[in-house]
Amino acid sequence: MSKHIARKRFGQHFLSDSAIIDAIVRGIAPVAGEPMIEIGPGLAALTQPLVERLGHLTVIELDRDLAKRLRAHGQLSVIESDVLRVDFAQVARDMNVPRVRVVGNLPYNISTPILFHLLQYVDVIQDQHFMLQKEVIDRMVAGPSTSDYGRLSVMLQWRYAMENFLFVPPESFDPPPRVDSAVVRMVPLANPAPVDVGLMEEMVQVAFSQRRKLLRHTLGAWLDARGFSGQFDTQRRAEEVPVDDYVQLALALGPAQAASDQAAASQ
Ligand code: SAH
Repeated sequence: MSKHIARKRFGQHFLSDSAIIDAIVRGIAPVAGEPMIEIGPGLAALTQPLVERLGHLTVIELDRDLAKRLRAHGQLSVIESDVLRVDFAQVARDMNVPRVRVVGNLPYNISTPILFHLLQYVDVIQDQHFMLQKEVIDRMVAGPSTSDYGRLSVMLQWRYAMENFLFVPPESFDPPPRVDSAVVRMVPLANPAPVDVGLMEEMVQVAFSQRRKLLRHTLGAWLDARGFSGQFDTQRRAEEVPVDDYVQLALALGPAQAASDQAAASQ
């Protein structure tokens, strides 16, 4: 087949360092027969070692030329689509499994949207392993009162246990990206607080809209508008508030969706 020219608009940086590829695959630890979905397989740098261990792998690739190459591989099911349009619950149903593992060296230009998209499907996901810009992973795993702590930290730590397990320098890719990369393991928490995700998202966004200001100027006004009369110390900055305080506040504001969720789940 002809040489593929990397497309910038699809965030294409292909892994070329075999030691790094080995380390990622070891970190994922695929077991034969496990249901797994890879996002953005590209030229199959991770795909090939993964599928050799799994026997079969489902891949989601947007680039039409790459999808065509991948379809020639006998052990892959190829979903040619923008990952942000993929219904992972439907894919799991199609695969006839309750939960899937998700992996990928993600296109960095849409990594945050992908993380939020997958959050919607957390109930059908066993775990996620992603290569991302290191700076993004630093923000995902950051603790309170650090400059990296923000919306991403709160929205993901509320729902996943996360671990940055591998540093990956630019030279490991062809073409090399301009930033350092890392690999994160994300495992959904077994007993998450039953918060309304939409409400939590809005609340956290309001809180961090002006991170240097005291919360009474931002979140305080938002809480007042909702008629909130409970306890929450707004004499703090958003970055000083631990994840669990946000969770407790979201719970106090009401597990709004509970009734309709149960209705949906029992269908
Ligand atoms: N996994 C490969 C390629 C990583 S580059 C490797 O490590 O070498 C990112 C890949 O994601 C490319 O193959 C790119 O075409 C694909 N991609 C970009 N945007 C996408 C989207 N919205 N949905 C699915 N795949 C996408």
